[in-house]
Amino acid sequence: MNDKAAQLIASRDKLLQRMPDPSTVLPGSLLSRMVRCNKPGCRFCEKGKGQGHGPIWILSVSLGNRQVRQVPIPGEMKKEVEASLRAFAQMQKLMNQIAGVNLDLLKERKRQR
Ligand SMILES: [Zn+2]
Repeated sequence: MNDKAAQLIASRDKLLQRMPDPSTVLPGSLLSRMVRCNKPGCRFCEKGKGQGHGPIWILSVSLGNRQVRQVPIPGEMKKEVEASLRAFAQMQKLMNQIAGVNLDLLKERKRQR
């Protein structure tokens, strides 16, 4: 193994160490929405004045083919869901970086045949 290959493997090891626990990941993004209850006289929902109730939190997941799955998230689960979304994004980013390093390694191995 040459220096270049050894450097690439070392940088890949560093990326691997930053990998989040895959068992926690969630896809999608978290949206907030105000809701109206339609009860007569509700001061939160009064036309032109009230802003409705909430916000409520919704996990929006794209399923492809323009299909979206929306999952309401209880307030006490919001932090956990946010951490899981961050873990997913982090994992995807690291996977791309590792794939890039592996591509360079492949070139290096071919060069040394
Ligand atoms: Zn209301």
